[in-house]
Amino acid sequence: MSEIVLRGGTVIDPSQKLHGVYDVLIGTGKVQAIAHRIPAENRMILDVSGLTVMPGLIDVHTHLREPGYEEKETVLTGGRAAAAGGYTAITAMPNTRPVTDSAAKIRRLKQLAAGAPVRIWPVGAASKGSLGAEPAEIAAMAACGACAITDDGRGIQSAGVARQVLQLCAESNLPLLEHCEDESIAGCGQLHEGRLAEKFQLPGIPVSAETVMLARDILLAGETQARLHLMHLSAAASVELLRVAKDRGLPVTAEVTPHHLLLAEDDVENLAALAKMKPPLRSTKDRTALQSALAEGVIDIIATDHAPHTEVEKSGSFAEAPFGVVGLETAFPVLFTFLVERGVLTIDQLVDRMSCRPAAIFRLPGGTLKPGSPADVAVFDLQCQFIIDKEHFYSKGKNTPFHGLTVRGRPVLTMVGGRIVMRDGKVFS
Ligand SMILES: [Zn+2]
Repeated sequence: MSEIVLRGGTVIDPSQKLHGVYDVLIGTGKVQAIAHRIPAENRMILDVSGLTVMPGLIDVHTHLREPGYEEKETVLTGGRAAAAGGYTAITAMPNTRPVTDSAAKIRRLKQLAAGAPVRIWPVGAASKGSLGAEPAEIAAMAACGACAITDDGRGIQSAGVARQVLQLCAESNLPLLEHCEDESIAGCGQLHEGRLAEKFQLPGIPVSAETVMLARDILLAGETQARLHLMHLSAAASVELLRVAKDRGLPVTAEVTPHHLLLAEDDVENLAALAKMKPPLRSTKDRTALQSALAEGVIDIIATDHAPHTEVEKSGSFAEAPFGVVGLETAFPVLFTFLVERGVLTIDQLVDRMSCRPAAIFRLPGGTLKPGSPADVAVFDLQCQFIIDKEHFYSKGKNTPFHGLTVRGRPVLTMVGGRIVMRDGKVFS
C-alpha cells in the first residue's frame, strides 16, 4: 500500500492540542507525520482542503444484535453504519442471544468482527446470562480481549452481586459499565415520570430509578477501587452525584447520548416510539444540566447507545414498542449542528468527547493522530448541509428520532489502520 497524504485539511486533534491547517502523512497503517507541507514524491494525494481531519470517532456503546437478533442488525451492518458515520472503532454490547458471558463467546465475536470495516471491541457480560444472580467469568473474558464488562439493557439489581462484579473487574483491570436502573423503582415505566406520562396515562420512570443505583455504585467503586463507567446519564441529579464522586477522586467516568443531549420528554409527543428509550428523555432542565456537564468535562464522553430495532417493532403502539434508537450515522452531524454551531461546545471539545477521551477511558488504540499511532482517521465536511434520511442508513435500524432534520457536518472519509473504508458516503467492505 502506497503512502497517502491528506493535503491541506483543518486538523483538529485535542490529544496533542492541534487545531490548524496541516498535511497528514499516512503509511504502513500509521500516522507518519503531520506538517505544514509534506512533499508528494510517489505518494497518493487526497486533497482535503476546506475539510476537517480528526482522529476517528470511537463509540463505546453500540448494540450489534448478533448473534440472535440479526433481523435488527449484524456485526457487518453495524460496522458499516459506524464507518459511514465517521467511527473507526465501536464496542459490541453483550446483550445478544446468547449473551456474551464467556471467553468462548468473546472469541466468536472477535471472529465475526474481523470481517467488519471498523475495529470492534467486545464487551463481556457482568453476570452469567446477564441475569444478575452470579458474576460471569470476568477474568477469562478479560484474558481473551474483552475491553469492559456490563449487563447493559439492565442494571445489576443486587448490590451484593454488583460489589462482587466490581471486585472481579478491579482484579482484571476492566471498567464496569453500569446501566443505572433500579427495577424496583422503574417497574414497568414507559417514559419519564412527568407531564406526558400523566397526559397519556402511562406508568412513569422516576429520576430516582437512576440515581439510587448510581449512588450505590459510586460507593461500591470507592470501596473496591474498580473503574466504574456510568452509562447514558439522563438527569441533573445524576450529574450532581457524579460531581461529588469526582471531587473525591474516585475512579468514576460517565457518558451521555446524543438523544439525551438534544431531546426532552416533550419530544415524545411528536416522535412517539422513536423517543422511547432507557433511560427516558427527561425535562429540559435535565437536558441543560447534561449539556453543561459535558462542556465542563464532568460528564466525560458521548456514546450513542446505538440500539437498532425493526420498523415493525417501532411503529406499533408506544406501550408495546421496544426501548432504544440508532445513533451511529447521525451522532456527529446532529451534535455539530445543535451543540457546536449553537455555542454549547467547541468543535475541539466535541472531538475530544467523541474520540480522544473514549480511547483514553477504555484504553483503546486510536483517539489521536500522534505520529506512530494507528491511522484511524475521520474527515468531515462541516459546511455541507444535508437532510438526514434513514433510508440511506447502512444500519438495518431505521429507528432514528432525527430523520428529516437539516444538519451540517457530513462524514466524507473514514480510514481504519490506513485503509479507506468509507469515501463520500460509500462504505467499502
Ligand atoms: Zn443501557
